[in-house]
Amino acid sequence: MVTDPAPARNGTGNAGGPAPESAALLARLGDEVSLWDLEVTATLALTPTMRRIRVTAPGLGAFSYRPGQDLMLSVPATDGATFRRRYTVRSFDPAAPALDIDVVLHGDGPAATWAAGVQPGDRIEAIGPRGKVTVDPGAQWHLFAGDDSAVPASLAMAETLPADRLVVVLEVDGAHDEQQATAVDGRPVPVQWLHRGGAAPDSGAQLLGALAAAALLAGLGHAYLAGELGVVAAMRAALLERGMAAEQISAKPYWRAGRANAAHGEPERP
Ligand SMILES: Cc1cc2nc3c(=O)[nH]c(=O)nc-3n(C[C@H](O)[C@H](O)[C@H](O)COP(=O)(O)OP(=O)(O)OC[C@H]3O[C@@H](n4cnc5c(N)ncnc54)[C@H](O)[C@@H]3O)c2cc1C
Repeated sequence: MVTDPAPARNGTGNAGGPAPESAALLARLGDEVSLWDLEVTATLALTPTMRRIRVTAPGLGAFSYRPGQDLMLSVPATDGATFRRRYTVRSFDPAAPALDIDVVLHGDGPAATWAAGVQPGDRIEAIGPRGKVTVDPGAQWHLFAGDDSAVPASLAMAETLPADRLVVVLEVDGAHDEQQATAVDGRPVPVQWLHRGGAAPDSGAQLLGALAAAALLAGLGHAYLAGELGVVAAMRAALLERGMAAEQISAKPYWRAGRANAAHGEPERP
């Protein structure tokens, strides 16, 4: 049996140690969060606009996370600077050990540029797991909604639930961007795919229309909303309008139209 070495924690075990700001962040985030010296082992063109990046790391077999959580990558830019960007853990195989992230190739931006060009053997530092939005164990049904960037988190969480407890509404550019996923009961995750057909990814019009019309299930539900900041706020308002309570809605802005994400990897709030 091969035993993984312990993951790097507060710098121990990471080649050269973490940058001082990473060490400070790790100290603040607490014991469940580690620093990972990731190596890319494979890439896959999942759709024309989404690239899957598989990574491994010393000690990754000990990685522990809840579906919906993410990694904060220190993305290198061409001028030598690094940018923190967050990507959902799409899946994790402790035996390999390997972890997949699925990145939207949206165009400009350090992370999108890195993801488009990254090759097996490349390395990147990450801190994780991060994120508080995970499946609500008290909910009787679950609604996931968002744009392309929300697809990995939505499917990662939906896969842990029975298909008949799910309402999933995801907006992508076209049929070529759709993905399949399997619910915990072996049935397909029932996704209502919306197609922008070339419209801007922050328009949100179709998502709002679909949420206004969606057949919500009986009992206590929980909604998980992610994507462009303004669209997420509008989706949240639409669900409040439909009678869901604020505590039934986890709304997480992932990016903001026309603005780079801030140093903590999330969009700056207006
Ligand atoms: C908790 C969390 C989990 C996330 N998980 C994922 C994930 O699994 N997969 C994923 O692809 N993204 C995910 N995101 C979103 C991702 O971190 C952002 O899209 C990020 O802005 C990308 O960084 P960048 O360097 O490419 O672009 P930035 O430098 O941040 O932005 C540059 C420009 O690109 C635009 N832009 C940024 N993202 C998008 C987009 N998705 N579509 C269109 N335009 C965009 C901005 O408006 C800006 O004009 C997540 C975000 C958070 C906070």
